[in-house]
Amino acid sequence: MTPSAPSIEELLLPLLVRAGQSDTLRADSLGLWHVGEERFWLPRFVFQRTSVVKPRITLGLFACIHGDEPAGALALGDLVQALDENPGMGREYQLWIYPLCNPTGYLAGTRHCAAGKDLNREFWKGSGEPEVVLLEKELRSKKFDGIISLHTDDTSDGVYGFVRGATLTEHLLKPALAAAEEALPRNQKAQIDGFHAVDGIIRSAYDGILCAPPETRPAPFEIILETPHHACVSLQRQAFVLALKAILVEYRRMLSFAANI
Ligand SMILES: [Zn+2]
Repeated sequence: MTPSAPSIEELLLPLLVRAGQSDTLRADSLGLWHVGEERFWLPRFVFQRTSVVKPRITLGLFACIHGDEPAGALALGDLVQALDENPGMGREYQLWIYPLCNPTGYLAGTRHCAAGKDLNREFWKGSGEPEVVLLEKELRSKKFDGIISLHTDDTSDGVYGFVRGATLTEHLLKPALAAAEEALPRNQKAQIDGFHAVDGIIRSAYDGILCAPPETRPAPFEIILETPHHACVSLQRQAFVLALKAILVEYRRMLSFAANI
């Protein structure tokens, strides 16, 4: 890690400050664990526009499961700010936000966690890694309607994404990538990260990635957004926020359309 990399508290500061000042955001921890003498926690934030009790669309937003990809964590802070500035956009949603899924890796500036594992290959395999145990429990109990993971790719020159789960997922990623193009170009290659891709969309994925429990029915929509790691961080953050906002708008539109059929 470069000496200038922010501490965990600094990385999360925009979200922590907002949680302290705003009724729409609440902060807590998914759980604690120790590595040697050091104690780590998995931060969680919940965004909800009003306190009115009603059915809401629940989404899980995950970032920094690869410790050396902090742009996603910063972007989730930007998203909450954007939602506060545009109250209509977060309407009907309850967003569960996990900005730092690999705090030990983040502090070391590494993709892997302190135990040397790529946490994004450990899911639903009986992993004993504390981050994975906590997140699997959360994914099982929350039963999210949609799951979005933010990553950065140091081999890509453009934005792209993976789709999984519900068949409508692709119809959410398309407008998301189109929106992100306002900030960064899309990766149009036919082969990305070893996978076949069309217009920046990949329909398969690595085994063991953070996703809904395999037995979940109906399957939620699942999107993995990737920005080019070498691009300016502020542009990556913008691309993420543009894409996330597009997904929120489009998913609500799809649901209201379905409700009116
Ligand atoms: Zn990653």
